[in-house]
Formats: sequence, structure tokens, C-alpha cells
Amino acid sequence: MKLKDNKSLYTLLVILVAIVLIFIVMCLIYISTLNDAVGEETDRYLSEVSYHIATLLNYRVRAHYANLETIASTYVQYIDEDEYQEYLMDKANESGYIRLSMVGTNYIGYSSDGLTVNYSGNTSVLNALNGKRGIESISRGHGESDIMLFAVPVVDDGVVVGVLIGTSTKNDLILSLMVESSSGELYSQIIDSDGDFIVVSTNKNAISGYINFFDAIEENGTVSPGDNIHKMQEDVLDGKAGILHYSMKDNGVNKAMSYSPLGIEDWYLLTVIPTDAAGMQKAIFIRSAVIINIVIIGLLLLLILIVMLLQKQNQNRLEKIAFIDPVTKGFNKARFDAEAGIRLEGAKKREYVAVALDIQRFKLINDSFGTKAGDETLKHVYDTIGRNLKANEIVGRITADTFYVLMNYESTSTVTSRIEKIAQDINAFNETMEQKYYLPIMAGVYIIDDPKLNLITIQDRANSARKSNKEMRQAQLCSIVFYSEMQRLRMVREREITNRMESALTNDEFIFYLQPQVELENERIVGAEALVRWADPQRGVVYPNEFIPTLEKNGFITKLDIHIFEKVCKLIEKWIGEGRDPVPVSVNLSRLHLTESGFLDEYERIKNRYSIPDGLIQLELTETVVYENFELIYNAVDRVHKLGFVMALDDFGSGYSSLNLLKDIPVDILKLDRGFFDEERGSRNRGEHIIEGIISLARKLDMVIVAEGVESMAQLAFLKQVQCDMVQGYIYSKPVSIEEFEELTFAKKA
Ligand code: C2E
Ligand code: CA
Ligand code: CA
Repeated sequence: MKLKDNKSLYTLLVILVAIVLIFIVMCLIYISTLNDAVGEETDRYLSEVSYHIATLLNYRVRAHYANLETIASTYVQYIDEDEYQEYLMDKANESGYIRLSMVGTNYIGYSSDGLTVNYSGNTSVLNALNGKRGIESISRGHGESDIMLFAVPVVDDGVVVGVLIGTSTKNDLILSLMVESSSGELYSQIIDSDGDFIVVSTNKNAISGYINFFDAIEENGTVSPGDNIHKMQEDVLDGKAGILHYSMKDNGVNKAMSYSPLGIEDWYLLTVIPTDAAGMQKAIFIRSAVIINIVIIGLLLLLILIVMLLQKQNQNRLEKIAFIDPVTKGFNKARFDAEAGIRLEGAKKREYVAVALDIQRFKLINDSFGTKAGDETLKHVYDTIGRNLKANEIVGRITADTFYVLMNYESTSTVTSRIEKIAQDINAFNETMEQKYYLPIMAGVYIIDDPKLNLITIQDRANSARKSNKEMRQAQLCSIVFYSEMQRLRMVREREITNRMESALTNDEFIFYLQPQVELENERIVGAEALVRWADPQRGVVYPNEFIPTLEKNGFITKLDIHIFEKVCKLIEKWIGEGRDPVPVSVNLSRLHLTESGFLDEYERIKNRYSIPDGLIQLELTETVVYENFELIYNAVDRVHKLGFVMALDDFGSGYSSLNLLKDIPVDILKLDRGFFDEERGSRNRGEHIIEGIISLARKLDMVIVAEGVESMAQLAFLKQVQCDMVQGYIYSKPVSIEEFEELTFAKKA
């Protein structure tokens, strides 16, 4: 049972570990997928934003060009020389330029604010004179803010006659570039194909203090593994877009940057986002994922734990009910059997002895001191035995005051002395007491020759050794019988009985008790059965079951029966002499009488000697005796009746074919065996139906029915209901002395 428990616990543990492992793997997969997804998501987001900004910029620049071209064509068509400045000023104000300048093919430009500037060094002007639109960023230095030139050719009749320049602060471009995330983490800037900054961002995270992006990275940046600055440089020259991951040494923030051509000059838009911003979101994702997983695992573990705990609790409770004796808090029979089974499984021949042990007169303790004291005594006995046992030895309480012990066997003498020691310890409490109260121990020991033997057989042998133990002297603390000794003891006992029976008879040690038979109708004592007792001066009252089997073996029983019969006759004679109204008395007849052909002659003689009227003596023969000697009895019944005896069939229902007997042998009284009323024997209803049937049959055959061994009110109620005639049982009275019987019977009548 233990083993199985461990195994299931082990399996549970494996399952638990597997679950946790699966969760951890799932977590890892989730985190890595999330990582990839977040990385991809960042890059995709960046490209999208980049594209968006580029489109905006492109649109804005084109708008500048278109605006300037419109201004230029109007200028060529409608404006006179002297009006040019006024016109340019109007248009500059209208469109928000710092100034508008009209540049001639000689590079000299006249501006709306009255300046004259030589533009010969400006590529955009050069380009525009060649018919191309241009944009140029100009750093003015000296703390003045940078400016941006937009240049468009001025065409008259298909010929470029000059260039119109719109000068703008960089702000207007920057404004459109300020497509920043709300947290200000994202920003953009513009470089040309050499990496020179065209527009730097004012964002606090942007690279500052550098003219060239590539220089900045080279001097103060670290490109993430997997990316390459040279690839970006090549891409930029080829007009390709891409993504670069890098960090600057001064703040170490990891950044993802997309670069895409703007479609304006050779300009590139750089859009930058710190990956940590995305990373933070990712961390939150991961953290929540891990927390959710941990919570799930935790809940699962808790659930399993609760289930296990409940199971364990339940098991403990069941084990307690099934295996713990509530009185001693120790092993009960089931537990003892289980433990004994385990120990005997691998045991060698004569390794163990089984001891059955009980306390003499324990019932007295319960009766005189109460059940609480009784229970305490049992616990005391149990604990004392336990203290005297070795590690592999066990004790269990089996029934009321019976204990089984499994003990190691060394020799008969060690077992004996150990049990004697136990008996001494059990009675040790007497040492300090003035009024000594001894708990004598009676033990039966079976040396287990064959451990493979059925446990029940082993226990039966120890038990029958205990029960055969009749040698107990009152004063003795402990009496032990070995199973192997039983046969010898029985023979000793039989020899003793045989040796002493003759003298016992002459010394009048055989007396009889009378058990009243009560009529159910009016609850009067209407008869009695004489039951023999051996009043042994040494042993006290000895009951018939102890000596009758021996007397039947040696044939002395017939003598005893006649002796009792004669005593009964004397008693009836006395009653009659005293003027009492005698009740019939039943005497038992052993089967042995039937082997003597003229046995009834003796009964007749004695009956006549005491002048016993007919019908006052009943002869009881048991059902089995009658069944086995059918012919004999069949022939004898008539004579019995003629002699004035009443014929009773004893123990009816204990044997077989009972009903056939009734048909053929005219007995007068039917004594129902007490087995019928044994409630433990099975279904009460079945017994009741049989009794009811027998009674109605017996009534038809004119028989009187006596129910024997009736102990409870319920049985009595039933017997009244089915109209049984008489009851002989403890419910009314145990067998009592003659004096007591006379008092019970005649006092009431008087
Ligand atoms: P039995 O003839 O069946 O006697 C009835 C036995 O049942 C008696 O036991 C009596 O004490 C017991 N008894 C009566 N009412 C109750 C009850 O309500 N509950 C229980 N549990 N037992 C009850 P006892 O006196 O020990 O006699 C035992 C047997 O010895 C008798 O059984 C009978 O077969 C035999 N016996 C007794 N006296 C003589 C005798 O003089 N001659 C012969 N041959 N046998 C006798
Ligand atoms: Ca009887
Ligand atoms: Ca009987």
C-alpha cells in the first residue's frame, strides 16, 4: 500500500515537472517570437513613418517650385522693370519667403528687400540657369539661422532668361519634418549623398555637433552587429533605402534608423527611433506574458496541491477509520493483519510466534468500574505490550479484551519469560496500591512453523491454545499455553477428569441447576431443565461443556445422567412432601444410553422408587441423536410414554431433516434450538418464517413448543406473536440453584 502511494506521488511529480517545463518552453518561444515581431514591427513602423515624411517633404518642395514658377512667369509677362521690387516684395510676403531674388544670367540677383547679391557660387542657381529646379541649404554661421534656397529657371519664350530664388528659413521644412512621436522619441533629419546634414533635427536625441552623419557614426557611434555603415554609404550613393541600427557612445541609446531617398537632389531622409522605446513596450509585453504564465502555473500547482491535500486528508481519515482502534489508538485487527502479512511474507520457519492474549475477568472491570475504566485498562494493556516489543514486532487489539502479538521466536522459554514480563508490567500498578486488583493474563502461543500458512489459521491456532488454557489459578498472573502443547494438555485434563469422576460422584460434587421454563401466555414458571454442574472444591463451578465430552468418551455419562435424574426425582418427591404443586423437570439423556438395550428399565425403577407421578419428568434427547438412531427411538417412544415420561426433542433445528422427524416420531415437546434466535446467523426474517412454520406444524401434531436461548425483548415479542408456548432463556432466568428456583417458582404461587 505504501509502495503504491510512493509510485503515484512520483508520477504526479513527473507530471508537475513536465507541466512546468512545457510552460517555460512556451514562455521562451513566446518571448523570442515577440522579440522578432517587435523588431520587425519597429522597422516596419520606421519605414512607414519615413515614407510619410518623405512624401510630405517632396510635396512641400514641389509646392515651393510651383509657386516660384508661377511668380516667375507672371513677372516675365506683366512686370515692368521699375515695378519688380514691389512685385517681389508682395509675393515674398504672400508666400512667406524671407525674400525673393531675381537673378540674371550674369548671376547678379536683385531681391525684394533691395539687396544685390552675386550668386555665382551657388550650385542651385547654376542648375537653374541650365533649366533645372534646385534647392540648396546654406549655412550662414555666426549664430544666424540657416536658410534654404529654392531656385527655378525664369523662362521667356522657351529661353532661360534668369533664375528666381525664394529664400526660406529652414523652419518651414523642419516643421513638416517634425513628425515626431508624441513622446518625442522619434525624429527625422536630412543628409545628402555624402552624409552631410542638410537639415538637422532640433530633437534632444539627435546627433549634434557634426556636419557629416557618417563622420559622426565613425567617430562616436557603434553600428549594431548585422548592420554595416559602408553598406548604407553604398545604398545612399545608389539611391536605395534601408535600415541601420546603431548607438552613440555618449548616451548608449540603441537606435533604429531608416534612410530613404527623398527624390529631391541627392537628399536622404533619416528617420530615427530609439529601439528601447519599442523595447520598453516589448518588455511590458514580455513581463505581462511571464506574469500571466507564472500565475497560471501557480494556480495549477495550487490546484494540484489542493487536490493532493484533499486526497491525503481523505486517505488519512479512511486509514484512521479502517486501521486505528479508537480505544487504544493503536492497531486494530485490519491493521494488525496487514502488518503481520507483510512480516510473514518473507519470514523463515519458526522466525515468529503468534500470541493470542486476553485479560481474565475483564468483563468484571467493565461491570464494576464502568466502560471508561474498562477502556483505560485496555489502553494500558496495549501500551504495556507495545513497550515490551522489539522494532519488528507488532500488537493489535482484536476484540473486546483480546490482543494478538507477533513476536520473534528464539526459544519457548524466551517467549514464556517475555509474556510473563508483560503480565508483570501490566500489573505493576498494584505495587503502590493498598487494595490490589490483578489483571491475570491468559495467552496462547503458536510457533509459526510455516509462515505461508493462512493468517486466519495461524491466529486460530494461537486462539485455541488460549481458549484451551483452563489451568488458570486465580492467584496466577499469567498462564501460557503453546499450541503444540494443547493436545498434551487436553489429554492431561481428560485423564484428570477420568481419575476424579468416580470420587466426585460419591462426594456429591455433581449437582444440578434449574433453568425455569416460562409459559408465554401468563409469564408463569411452568417447568425447568436440570443442568449439571461440577462443584469442584479446587476449581470452583465447572460447566458441562468442559467435562461432558470426556465423560461421553469414557462412558461415565450414563452414570452421571442417572445420578442427576435420581437427584431430580428426590427433589420432586421433596416438593410433593412439602405440599407444593410440583412443576415438571426436564433431564438430559446422553446418546450413550441408546447403546444399552434396557436403559429405560433403570429410569423406570428410580421413578417408581420416588413415586413420581406421570408427566412430571421429561426426557430430553437431542435432535441429532434421534436422527442417527431413528429405528431405536421410533420403537422406544411408546415405552417412554407408557412409563409416564414426557418425551422432549432437544436442540431442534440445529441438525438436518428436522421436519421429517416430527412426522414419524410422536414427541411431546419440541425445544427450538437457540441458533434460531442468534441474530448474527443471518436474515432474521428467514429464521422467523421457519419458526412460524414449525410452530404451526407442531401445533397440528399436538406438540408443546419451548424456545431455548431467548435473550432479547424483540425475540420474545416475536415468539408471543407466533404463539410459541414456552420460553427457556436468559431473558427470564439463567440456570439457578435449587433454592433460588424454589423461591422463584413457589413464592409467586403462594
Ligand atoms: P442444552 O441441553 O441445550 O442446555 C441449554 C444450555 O443453554 C445451558 O447451558 C443453558 O445454560 C444455556 N442457555 C439457556 N438459556 C440461554 C440463553 O438465553 N442464552 C445462552 N447463550 N445460553 C442459554 P449449560 O448449562 O452450559 O449446558 C450445556 C449443555 O450441556 C446442555 O445443552 C446439555 O447438552 C449438556 N448438559 C447439561 N446437563 C446435562 C446432563 O445432566 N446430562 C447430559 N447428558 N448433558 C447435559
Ligand atoms: Ca437440554
Ligand atoms: Ca438445548
